[in-house]
Amino acid sequence: MELRREFLTAEMIEPGTDKPVRTTIEVRFDPLTGHSSRVLPERGLMPASDFDLETFGRQSQPGCPFCPGRIDVLTPRLAPRIHPDGRIVRGEAVLFANLHAYSSHSAVSVYSPRLHYLPLGEITPRLVADNIAAQVAFAKAVMAAEPRSQWASINANHMLPSGSSLFHPHMQGIVDSRPTTWQRLLAEVPPQRFADYLEAERRSGERYLGDTGRIQWIVSFAPIAPAELRAFAPAISSPAELDVDLIDELAHGFALGLGAYAEMGFESFNCAIYGAPPGAEGYPLNLRLACRSNLTPFYRSDSTFLERLHWEGAVDLAPESVARWIGERFRK
Ligand SMILES: [Zn+2]
Repeated sequence: MELRREFLTAEMIEPGTDKPVRTTIEVRFDPLTGHSSRVLPERGLMPASDFDLETFGRQSQPGCPFCPGRIDVLTPRLAPRIHPDGRIVRGEAVLFANLHAYSSHSAVSVYSPRLHYLPLGEITPRLVADNIAAQVAFAKAVMAAEPRSQWASINANHMLPSGSSLFHPHMQGIVDSRPTTWQRLLAEVPPQRFADYLEAERRSGERYLGDTGRIQWIVSFAPIAPAELRAFAPAISSPAELDVDLIDELAHGFALGLGAYAEMGFESFNCAIYGAPPGAEGYPLNLRLACRSNLTPFYRSDSTFLERLHWEGAVDLAPESVARWIGERFRK
């Protein structure tokens, strides 16, 4: 498989001079869906965090519905036909119904009620694994109670710039009878194309991070968001099929990625684990994990008209530089 890219040239006259200046813009095409992305020269669009998150965390803590003492009273329980206890607990993670439903079955799961402030560098594989395990149990419970809800995803908005309305770190699960747009697009990709893409990345090595056992991690060739990572678990197609070992493996890679983001100066991210119906022939369960702009007053959002309305990525962090940052962690 050829990883396709084209180059565009912009010409302008330098301010205050008559000197022509040329800029090259690289347009890359995602090998799976064909969506295009612009890799721009480094422009400092994603400055490192200099915001005092811990103090902001303390200010937002009084009244937080996910903190100890309030979580049991203020969060909605799951319907009894989904889960008799109303909440799902795995390790420190606690899952409950999303007060603001986005689908027929929406769940929120905190890493821990005690972790109101949780910088990316402190998110351990255990915390991630327990949180994902709670979401997997939720997906299984919904599918058992309502067999037509076959489309599950596990997602995260982490910190306000990513779309999170609550400071307290959490994941979100959606289980529904219909896919989201990206679940549909990915489920329509011919299975061989996933294998060819991974093979091309393995051969090139430039963006390939590693194989943690049954899951392969790469930096996205044509990212829709900054520092975007992708992972592929070829043996299964739905989060509901994640077993304990695979959850641990996924959580290990996830925490490596978040640790690298912290080192790069980022504190906000989005994640989506795109499930197709369980047993979908040839579909590998796969995810995207990407940074968002840092929280700071009058900040610049990384999501512009290009990403939101054209579905066109535009990043000034070259995927190959991101791979150099992150790859070391996977090779240790
Ligand atoms: Zn809290």
